[in-house]
Order: sequence, then structure tokens, then C-alpha cells
Amino acid sequence: MTEENYDFDVIVVGGGVAGSVCAYLLAKKGREVLLVERGMEPGSKNLSGGVFYCRVMQEVFPNFIEEAPIERRITRNCLSFLNPTNFVNVDYWDSRLAEPVNAVTVLRAKFDPWLAEQAEEAGVTIMPGVKVDGIIREGGRFVGIRAGEDELRARVVVAADGVNSFISQDAGIRGKEPLENLAVGVKSVIHLGEDEVKKRFNLVGDEGAAYAVVGDCTEGVAGGGFMYTNKESVSIGIVARLDDLTKKGKSSSDLHDHFLSHPAIASFLEGGELLEYGCHLVAEGGEKMQHDLVRNGLVVIGDAAGFTLNTGFTVRGMDLAAGSAVAAATAVDHALETGDCSRVGLERYIAEYKKSFVGKDMATYAKAPDFLENDEMYGDLGLMLADVLYGVYNLDLTPRKHILPTALSAFKASGLKIRRMAKIGFQAVRFL
Ligand SMILES: Cc1cc2nc3c(=O)[nH]c(=O)nc-3n(C[C@H](O)[C@H](O)[C@H](O)COP(=O)(O)OP(=O)(O)OC[C@H]3O[C@@H](n4cnc5c(N)ncnc54)[C@H](O)[C@@H]3O)c2cc1C
Repeated sequence: MTEENYDFDVIVVGGGVAGSVCAYLLAKKGREVLLVERGMEPGSKNLSGGVFYCRVMQEVFPNFIEEAPIERRITRNCLSFLNPTNFVNVDYWDSRLAEPVNAVTVLRAKFDPWLAEQAEEAGVTIMPGVKVDGIIREGGRFVGIRAGEDELRARVVVAADGVNSFISQDAGIRGKEPLENLAVGVKSVIHLGEDEVKKRFNLVGDEGAAYAVVGDCTEGVAGGGFMYTNKESVSIGIVARLDDLTKKGKSSSDLHDHFLSHPAIASFLEGGELLEYGCHLVAEGGEKMQHDLVRNGLVVIGDAAGFTLNTGFTVRGMDLAAGSAVAAATAVDHALETGDCSRVGLERYIAEYKKSFVGKDMATYAKAPDFLENDEMYGDLGLMLADVLYGVYNLDLTPRKHILPTALSAFKASGLKIRRMAKIGFQAVRFL
């Protein structure tokens, strides 16, 4: 193919965090970039719980905090065990998380259009409302995309089309992902008004709170609940692993409704108005989902490449999407510069992401999914913690016991096994 046959240097498929950041950076380097998004507007198809660990965005956009439509800076993190009749929280507030800003809440329906706007201002051509149906192969290379009757050609195609990545499947990189590598998230955004959000979550100024919840929120199904504060609303929902959901015969929307109506949770939401409701797949497999991410003329980034991390403490996907986009933009620009957009020329992407926080964190938490397979995390452990605290606080006129015997009686009554707990403790120390 001659140079004149190319419509663009790069075609990016998907206008989520990964696609828009990659397109923006390549346009800033002077490349001709097309961003194709199937939604009528970037963000219209996208869903996140909403805590964005945003240091990487501050490197890409120096005025990110001032200019991006962020909701609140997260300074309070609560790790919560929810049981049918009680709620145990490890509540951690730290003013050091406010500055430099560590994590913010975002609403994708506002955030993604802003991001796409930055890309457009940098020179990216954005084509919304167009679903890519396939990629064009010629002589062992990927040379463009097909959408309906139309074909568009580029020297490099970047697949940023999310967790289901049709492009990676079409390119033969991925097959159908096994159920244990996937979860489904169901989320609501509930409007309360700014004063109520601050009052109910004990917040000042633009600070925010993020609850990561396990236990009764998913009725024992592997996964968890989340509750994040926005400026005037709360993002709340559950994420449940597909294999366990199927095994236990539960429905994800029922789990969502059950979580929101739990007495310990419902009081946060009382009188609120539902603004948004949606569900979306979540990649949960960690490093197991990383396949071959580079082919001749093609790179895969973000969720499409399986870059998500759930440790139980944090759910991360957006920062990894942005980090992989930075790595890909560096590699693609270099490949265009040298004129080698073959697999060998693009392999720099692998080296770039591996040396960045994306590759390092994916390796550090490679076994986090194994830790989250322990059933005790989703029921018995939280119940036992509540029983210990009940023993401490319930002054029922029986003689008091010291904390150790109180804890031991709760442990014995729980049915938990010492060997299992030792194994879980060992895994927690090693894997998280
Ligand atoms: C319920 C839930 C809670 C989550 N919570 C968090 C959280 O708190 N923090 C966090 O960091 N991450 C969270 N995540 C994960 C996070 O949302 C993802 O990791 C992140 O969105 C990945 O970004 P991406 O750009 O790779 O993919 P996406 O945001 O999914 O973007 C992919 C884009 O590609 C487009 N597209 C797909 N196919 C085509 C096609 N054929 N043609 C054209 N366009 C196409 C889609 O419309 C979409 O715009 C959560 C996910 C869910 C579902």
C-alpha cells in the first residue's frame, strides 16, 4: 500500500478514557488521528463506579484538576463489611489525600465528552455514532476499519473498544473471555443536593468519600458494592462475578436493589431522586486477561487489553486505561517516525506499559483475583467482626470478658476454620 492510500496516520476505535487520551496525545505530536465512537456522544455508552486515581491525568493535562468536570476529591475511604443486620466500617480520612490530588469522582456522561473535546481541540477528527464492524487485513497487516459500507485506512489501528473488544476478537487476539474473568456492574446515580451529600457523608468543601463494601450487598456472591459521593449525588451499585452469579442463581439487578434497600445504606439515600441507572461488564481477570497486545498495524489498550485491577480496597480501570494510552501513544508515534508499523516496530508499546505504573501494578496484583475467590470474604468474616464488636459494646450485665476471649468466642461461633483464615491472611499479605 502506498502512503496516499491512507486516510489517517492512526484510527482509534472507542471514545472512552483509553481511546480519547491516546488520540489526544498522538494529535499533540502532529499525527492525523481519527477517533470512532459508536455512542452518539463519547461517554453515552460508558459506566464506571467513578473513583478515578488521577495522577496520570495530571501528567497528561497539567490543568486537569482545575479544568476537568470532576465531582469530588476523595479524602475518605471506607472499607466496609455489610451483614444483614449490621455494618462494620474501617473509616480512613486523610488530609494528605487532598493535595496533591490522588483520586476524584467522575460521572462518565460528563467526563468523557470533556475528554473527547480535548482530543478534538488537539486536532483529532471525531466520528461519533459509528460502530466499527471489523478491521481490514491486507498481506498479514491490519490497515484500517470497516463500518457498514465504509472503509477507512490508517497506518495503525488502536483498539480502545472496551471490555468486550470486538476488535481484539476479530483480530484473533482474544477468544470469548471465560466467565471467571468477568463481572457485571449495576449502578445508580441518586441526586440528593450538595448540602445533603455533605451532611450525610460528613464532608467539607469539595472533599468526597468512597465506600468499598463486601458481604450482604451481593448476598454472598463474589464481588462487592460501592458508594461514592459526587458533588450533588451519590454513585452506588454492585459488581458481581459472572461465574459465581450463575452458580448461585442470582440476578445482578436484584442484588443492586437489595444493596440499596439495606437499612444501613437506605438512610444515605432517603428522599433522593434516581438520575441514572445502568449496567456494564467489568474485566476482573487481572494479568490472566493480557493476551498478545500488538499485531502488524494494531495495538490494544485499556479494558480491551484487560487492564483493570480489583484488590477489594480499590477498583481501578480508568487510570490503567489512561496509562496504557500514554504507553501506546509513545510507541505508535515512534513507529510512525521510523516508518515501521509492523509488530516489531510497535512492540515498544509492551516495553512502555511494562515499565510504567500500569505494568508494574498489574504484576504486583497479579494474584489479587485469587485472593478475592475466598468465599469467607463475602459473608462469614464480616459476621465474625460484627460479633466481636457486639461482644465489646453490648453491655448486657453478664460479666465482661477481655477482647481476646471475646474474639475467640466469636471466632468459634462463626464456623470459620483457623487453617482457612491463616491461608487467607497469608494470601492477603502476599497478594494485596
Ligand atoms: C460498575 C463499574 C464500576 C467501575 N468502577 C470503577 C472505578 O471506580 N474506578 C475505575 O478506575 N474504574 C472503574 N471501572 C472500570 C472502568 O469503567 C473501565 O476500566 C474503564 O472505563 C476502561 O476505559 P476504556 O476506555 O478502556 O473502555 P470504555 O470506557 O469501556 O470505552 C470503550 C469505548 O469504546 C466504544 N466502542 C466499543 N465498541 C465499539 C465499536 N465496535 N465501534 C466504535 N466504538 C466502540 C464504547 O462505546 C466506549 O465508548 C468500573 C466499571 C464498572 C462497569
